[in-house]
Amino acid sequence: MVFEGLNEKFQNIFSQLKRKGKLNEKDIQEVNREIKLALLEADVNFKVVKQFTKNLSERAVGQEVLNSLTPGQQFIKIVKDEMTTLLGGEIERMDFVDGRQNVFMLVGLQGAGKTTTAAKLANLLQKEKKFKPLLVACDVYRPAAIKQLEILGNELNIAVYSEHDVKDPVGIARRGLQKAVAEHYDLVIMDTAGRLQIDETLMEELVNIKEAINPTEILLTVDGMTGQESVNVANEFNRLLDISGVILTKLDGDTRGGAALSITYTIGKAIKYIGTGEKLTDIELFYPDRMASRILGMGDVLSLIDKAQNMMDEEKAKQLEEKLKTQDFDLNDFLEQIKQFEDMGSISSLLEMMPAANQKAFKNMDLSQTDTKRTEAIILSMTKEERHKPGMINASRRKRIALGSGTKVADVNRLLKGFEQSKKMMKQMSNPNIAKKGRMKLP
Ligand code: GDP
Repeated sequence: MVFEGLNEKFQNIFSQLKRKGKLNEKDIQEVNREIKLALLEADVNFKVVKQFTKNLSERAVGQEVLNSLTPGQQFIKIVKDEMTTLLGGEIERMDFVDGRQNVFMLVGLQGAGKTTTAAKLANLLQKEKKFKPLLVACDVYRPAAIKQLEILGNELNIAVYSEHDVKDPVGIARRGLQKAVAEHYDLVIMDTAGRLQIDETLMEELVNIKEAINPTEILLTVDGMTGQESVNVANEFNRLLDISGVILTKLDGDTRGGAALSITYTIGKAIKYIGTGEKLTDIELFYPDRMASRILGMGDVLSLIDKAQNMMDEEKAKQLEEKLKTQDFDLNDFLEQIKQFEDMGSISSLLEMMPAANQKAFKNMDLSQTDTKRTEAIILSMTKEERHKPGMINASRRKRIALGSGTKVADVNRLLKGFEQSKKMMKQMSNPNIAKKGRMKLP
């Protein structure tokens, strides 16, 4: 789980703090020591840790905490503030230019996720900003990198410029850009070569590409699973290329937090996007405050809501609302809802965005994909009429459905009950008056 170690440690530290009525300087020192250890263990750069805890001490020992009525809470707030600052403070949006091509150059070590991210980013910006993107394959060294970009482009219906058997990345970049100008692509994303480690020839090549195409953004792609060694890499890329921002990938694995927490402070460049999975839609804008909440185990409910809203297209939302009003919501719609949840990522990954305290309530539930598959099988074993009027599913029909779907009658019962509860809950949620008054009850 992402940031699991840090999450747990901060939760422990915070619960100790909340239990204390008053805090003195010694308490603050002790808490700071624990925070320091937690961060070092998560492989955060030691200079960053030192500065972070120094800031905490200064603010805590000053008037801000010790004299407050709720010192524990005040201190937690300071930790959250300082962590947000460490992650960049304000969200830094991309500066898109008008009147010429937006040209992004993706750089980074091999395996960091450049090729995948190039495709994810093109897809995201095509959808959200209505760009007409062109992907350019300048990685002529990694076997299959060009093919990989072509496959991704094909899957997403995004144009790719490539030249097979040509070992001249600067030329490819230049000609890719010429194509974009001639054919009115307004966003060009260049996938460049990486190595396992920084080497001079590679850097020289990247500098040459930069000079040839004058990119509007140079985005360093960094594997979020790496720790503070990413700082050295980032420093070197930044020194030679003066990058404009960072994309942190693989924040869905068992990322400890080292790279995320070290990079901005050390190189002074913002993280702009994060990669959160292998699917081509798994990319998000980076919000420092939301990330701080997640690292500290306070959850990230805002991102969860964004995700849900992005998944549901407006047309479908309207149809659903209409159906709920007319009592027409049936098991076919229910199945569609479940599938949408599946598209949002596994339910357990969504749970990670909830505050740690709330996650405990779900610990024993079966939240695996197999549960969704079982539900799907049961609904598909019903007749059209049964799906539309679940009230008619009596005991013998339940038996037949269980047999047909390879499940037990108890599973069918559970599903029908879940359907009724969801229907009730969605009806309440779609009624703004009830939702606003806070009378909405979950089943
Ligand atoms: P490149 O060498 O920098 O071009 O890296 P690739 O784009 O080929 O990515 C290397 C591996 O990382 C591939 O298997 C990708 O599927 C995977 N990958 C990239 N981004 C993410 C991410 O956000 N999450 C996960 N889980 N895997 C990712």
